[in-house]
Amino acid sequence: MSSSFLVTLPDGSQRQVPAGTSPMDIAKSIGTRLAEDAVVARVNGELWDMTRPLESDATVDILTSRNEEALEVYRHSTAHLLAAAVLELYPETKLGIGPPIKDGFYYDFLRETPFTPEDLEKIEKKMVEIRDRGLTYDRIVVEKAAGLEKYRGLNESMKCELIEERAGDTFTEYTLGPKFIDFCRGPHVPSTRRLKAFKLLSIAGAYWKGDEHRHQMQRIYGTAWFTQKDLDDHLHKLEEARKRDHRVVGRQLDLI
Ligand SMILES: [Zn+2]
Repeated sequence: MSSSFLVTLPDGSQRQVPAGTSPMDIAKSIGTRLAEDAVVARVNGELWDMTRPLESDATVDILTSRNEEALEVYRHSTAHLLAAAVLELYPETKLGIGPPIKDGFYYDFLRETPFTPEDLEKIEKKMVEIRDRGLTYDRIVVEKAAGLEKYRGLNESMKCELIEERAGDTFTEYTLGPKFIDFCRGPHVPSTRRLKAFKLLSIAGAYWKGDEHRHQMQRIYGTAWFTQKDLDDHLHKLEEARKRDHRVVGRQLDLI
């Protein structure tokens, strides 16, 4: 393996960096502000954790909170935080998937007891508590067979199913703190401390893989934004839409 790599930045400038250099190291060398605002990198066209060391010569683009794709990574990272909080509070829960969606994210959980609105408040508090621990999303590359055995041991049958379907000879998983681990391609934000503004919104039923013959899961929806102001604006919009719907229902009732 080469002991140094040639990095090309978006402005066309180039620099030689030692092996082991991560996009975060590059961001820091450009400026503290950039490093603090960096969410994720694009390395040779692929989204990449800021803390993941480069593996070859590369074009490196640092994506900040002004970038739409960075917002998706941010929301997906918040979904991991939600799952970690649920597992701390309700360790018997099994995990489905947790993608970003328009304006937010969800995570699907398998648990016999239904989540209540009070549970959502508890989970959100736990998310804040875990966020403040400043945990990193650590990427681990695992051999497929050994990985499958581990998830079977954890009794995470849905994760095993996903690994069977999606993994090559190896796959990646991400930890969050000493206990939480999730089969996931990534990438994620560098630390939970980045997750400044989020709110859990609702609970809905969902079938595993949308198949009514499979597990009936509980889906927790949340929204996440880079700033408290963006979050407040979004919640205000949701509230206005709800009021409008009520007025429409009210008018319809008048007609009866
Ligand atoms: Zn993930």
